[in-house]
Amino acid sequence: MGDCIFCKIANGEIPSNTIFEDENFRVILDNGPATKGHALVLPKKHYADLFEIPEETLAGAVKTAKKVAANMKDKLGCDGLNLVQNNGAAAGQTVMHFHLHIIPRYENDGQSILWKPTSPTPEELVAVKETILN
Ligand code: AMP
Ligand code: ZN
Repeated sequence: MGDCIFCKIANGEIPSNTIFEDENFRVILDNGPATKGHALVLPKKHYADLFEIPEETLAGAVKTAKKVAANMKDKLGCDGLNLVQNNGAAAGQTVMHFHLHIIPRYENDGQSILWKPTSPTPEELVAVKETILN
């Protein structure tokens, strides 16, 4: 993926604020952070999104996030933490190389990673379930 910026960052061709690295992943500080310590887990191999990434690599990304999250809790003293992972432009993905956001949260940090709940009828929920199961 010659023109993918996260491929270049993950493989060290472009400098980044790296906070963890191993054979398969690089974790960098997001350069437009939601909060102090907002980081991105980047697989070194290119996969666009959740649909492309192999299960084993996905599991590795989550394990990496767990390690980094524990370190953030310890060093940054965050009060909470969100893991966020966007797939497709409709879901807010802007860089089409799989990445897992690690967003430390602090009391009254002024951020919000929430959605507006809707109110489907019980029948509508059953219809969705049946669509998924059939
Ligand atoms: P997403 O909207 O899930 O695709 O998130 C992309 C994230 O990558 C955003 O939070 C950006 O701030 C971040 N980002 C984009 N380019 C860079 C870069 N060169 N270095 C660090 N973070 C970046
Ligand atoms: Zn890439």
